[in-house]
Amino acid sequence: MSCDFIDLANSGIQGLSPYQPGKPIEELERELGLSNVVKLASNENPLGPPQSALDACRAAMNGLHLYPDASGYRLKTSLSAKLGVQPEQLTLGNGSNDVLDLLARVFLDGDSSAVYSQHAFVVYPIAVQAAGARAIVTPAQSWGHDLQAMAEAIDSDTRLVFIANPNNPTGTWLTEQDVRHFLAQVPDNVIVVLDEAYAEYVEEADYPDGVELMADYPNLVVTRTFSKAYGLAGLRVGYAISHPDVADLLNRVRAPFNVNSMALAAAEAALNDSDYLARSLDVNRRGMIQLGEGLSKLGLDVIPSVGNFIAVAMPGRAGPYYQALLEQGVIARPVGVYEMPKHLRITVGLEQENARCLEALSAVLNEPRS
Ligand SMILES: *Cc1c(COP(=O)(O)O)cnc(C)c1O
Repeated sequence: MSCDFIDLANSGIQGLSPYQPGKPIEELERELGLSNVVKLASNENPLGPPQSALDACRAAMNGLHLYPDASGYRLKTSLSAKLGVQPEQLTLGNGSNDVLDLLARVFLDGDSSAVYSQHAFVVYPIAVQAAGARAIVTPAQSWGHDLQAMAEAIDSDTRLVFIANPNNPTGTWLTEQDVRHFLAQVPDNVIVVLDEAYAEYVEEADYPDGVELMADYPNLVVTRTFSKAYGLAGLRVGYAISHPDVADLLNRVRAPFNVNSMALAAAEAALNDSDYLARSLDVNRRGMIQLGEGLSKLGLDVIPSVGNFIAVAMPGRAGPYYQALLEQGVIARPVGVYEMPKHLRITVGLEQENARCLEALSAVLNEPRS
């Protein structure tokens, strides 16, 4: 008889469910025998990768027999110049997901807690629970974070607070005034993680730059990624900007070569490709208007979003609509795990892709529902 291996795991991990990614295009094509599938499920950049990054990858291939530069010297040098921070304040990760996980491993254990909001990015609950810590989840306010509730929820054993600005999957965002007012109330022995995975897309005048706030709040950690506006989700590169001592701690648990050599080279090239970034933002700006107008014509309510995605409320539970869209060759993202059973999250795509999605939604809404 074999042993019950599940019983052997850390208790936090025993209770975890794995992260559910967006459905891959190939999988849907295989399952339904479709071609020309449109995937608007994972907030990926519809432009494809930057040509500059592809060229850098090709050059880096000649060194694939060597371990990557574990210190990420070149990428950190470029980032530090761009952000106006010291290289010692930077931690590179295998996606910013890696960095979020490192933060949980460094600061959380069975005797501590972390605060995050209802509907917040699902990696926070996973990281907190895997670390065996207690999660304090505050109710959302108009789908966004209620920072006052979050400040009041901080307990004596709280070590981390996770804030997504803007948040995924809701697209809601917080102003500089909101964030400053919050930070002023947080004890200085509590680390506040400001997840800015979509910061590049946000064009609102009072959207804060987390890096600037760090001057006043050394307990602030900002995380960013190359997966979204920089178009490199498949390579997995993200980073944290923090106090050098926090970076030192993260570096102690970081896997030695957590960012591979192609990813390092591509991220450096993408960072310097201001033309690609400008095109990303432009496509997103226009696509968001197209989707917003189209969804409203279909009579659907959306949560106003500043990211590269939009959450739309379906007339009933989202599951059947998600399935019906798959049959039309359109992959959206159900967000039931975020306690949003009626919503689908749609990534802003190219004009054609958005149009396909709107047509498919229109067809699906007109189908008789059982
Ligand atoms: C996509 C996303 C991330 C980053 O993902 P990585 O690909 O791991 O860098 C982080 N936070 C939020 C809120 C996201 O939506």
